[in-house]
Amino acid sequence: MEKQEMPVTNMNDRNAHAISASRSICRAIKQSDASLRQKYSFLYHQDLICAIIFIGSLLLISLFSYLYLSNYISAISAILLTALPLSLLHELEHDIIHNLYFKQYRWIQNMMFVFIWLVKLHGSPWYRRQLHLKHHLLSGQTNDAEERLIGLGLAPDYKRMAVSLHPFGGLLVSDDISKDAKYIDLVTMKLKNAPTALIFFFITRTFITYNILFFIYYWLNYDIHTIYGIHTFYPIIHNLAICLCFPNLLRQGCLVVMSNSTHYYGDIPLNTVYYQNQILDSWFVFPFQLFCFNFGATHIVHHYVVSQPFYIRHFTARSVKDMMVKSGIRSNDFGILWRSNRYTIDLKEDEKQKLYGKCWFGACLLLGFPLYIIWDIMVMHKSNKNILRVISKRLSKGNSNTIKQLDNDIGNELTTNKKTDENNDTVTNGCVNRLNTLVNNITLFDVSADQVEQVSDAAVEA
Ligand SMILES: [Zn+2]
Ligand SMILES: [Zn+2]
Repeated sequence: MEKQEMPVTNMNDRNAHAISASRSICRAIKQSDASLRQKYSFLYHQDLICAIIFIGSLLLISLFSYLYLSNYISAISAILLTALPLSLLHELEHDIIHNLYFKQYRWIQNMMFVFIWLVKLHGSPWYRRQLHLKHHLLSGQTNDAEERLIGLGLAPDYKRMAVSLHPFGGLLVSDDISKDAKYIDLVTMKLKNAPTALIFFFITRTFITYNILFFIYYWLNYDIHTIYGIHTFYPIIHNLAICLCFPNLLRQGCLVVMSNSTHYYGDIPLNTVYYQNQILDSWFVFPFQLFCFNFGATHIVHHYVVSQPFYIRHFTARSVKDMMVKSGIRSNDFGILWRSNRYTIDLKEDEKQKLYGKCWFGACLLLGFPLYIIWDIMVMHKSNKNILRVISKRLSKGNSNTIKQLDNDIGNELTTNKKTDENNDTVTNGCVNRLNTLVNNITLFDVSADQVEQVSDAAVEA
């Protein structure tokens, strides 16, 4: 059952199959959603469920921190346990991006965003909203910035591992991506995400520096605590690292490894949701799935129906899996890593490539996390280079206006079929145009008018 590709003879047949299969899959997901809601009518109270998950997650994080600080649980247990409610908050953030909760109460959404931003210590949720909506519209294309910033399309080597397992590893590839995704303004992106990034860097790097110094002092027979102020200052850093930074590092790493292994990239037509994802639900990836709410098995469902909360998606994904695989959707295609996320499979090499993919997951778990310090040095080196470049650019003003004019000329508008076609040379026939309409409607289903404008304005302004 792993590969039930439909026998296709030419591009038109393939597109026709993609359309009919996509519609059937969409329908099956919606039917499954409706029957679940009929059976459990409390599922209609989405706002209330969101509030319960939000408050419950914050309480659980506080509880695990308290248990650790009171010496009831070890640091490892605190990290593993805290990563679980953090993954729920990440899912809530994502659903709020799609306006699934408190649609009429923006201030509640914004308040939740503030808390989630602080607790996750990652990118700004408001900025992520812009990138994520574009991800749905451009998934698998060279200008799919959100997914490329987390390693989509990279060869499976040390750089991909760094991008995947460092929460801000996107810095290593952002220059290349901004050349393809014209709506990305690197300075704006860095400034909007800087507040929490700087806090995260400060805590983790102080933690690492202290521990390195501790061993050097110990080896030289000195006591590190003779350094002025370290008694009062370091315990705060240590506790923040254990209770917030490391659980986030684990959660984000697991999510990214899963996400950049489920999306296809580079050789798929624009807006063909049929080719955008695979189902990754092998037992082999269970440790990663645990900290990202079963992302590998369910994200494909989200690409088809974005108007579904994450907790329902989990059950829907199970009920439609067989039907999806029968329609030709790939399942546990581990060769995707060797192929740098390309869709096209070389059948002769597939078994070898699948084995490599499995080894990749093992390497991420056993080497990727322990080698974090190397990825952090790479990121630090890159951000220092960026800062120097910005300073030298500021000193030699003049080019910026020309660059902005060039970007405006490109006019990377995303909300019309016409413009999305222009952004992609591979779009050549009417079938894909119809898919464009379908996907645009899916993506912007629950997004309010002003947020759609935010998407297109931001794209044009960049
Ligand atoms: Zn996606
Ligand atoms: Zn989404």
